[in-house]
Amino acid sequence: MPVQKCPICGEMAKYENPPDNIEQYRCFECPVCGSFVISLMAEDHLAKFTIKDRMYYSEKAKAAQAGKVLIIQFLDDGAEALTMHRYDDKSVWFG
Ligand SMILES: [Zn+2]
Repeated sequence: MPVQKCPICGEMAKYENPPDNIEQYRCFECPVCGSFVISLMAEDHLAKFTIKDRMYYSEKAKAAQAGKVLIIQFLDDGAEALTMHRYDDKSVWFG
């Protein structure tokens, strides 16, 4: 698996693309945050947040129930950029 800085906490973390190869997402396995999925747009957006605000998502990632994974997405409604998060079945994203 390739490695890069975790977009949430900044530690070095492994990542891979989802099994169906949706290239606008990356699936991370971070030693601090655990497993989570983030869109490339959300990754860019998160980089502008303070570490304190980013760690909110780390807590959300660790709070996922068994078999679930946090998905962090970026929504642009034309007026205001928003990050959204939800939980999805982990097996869909981690092959
Ligand atoms: Zn992390």
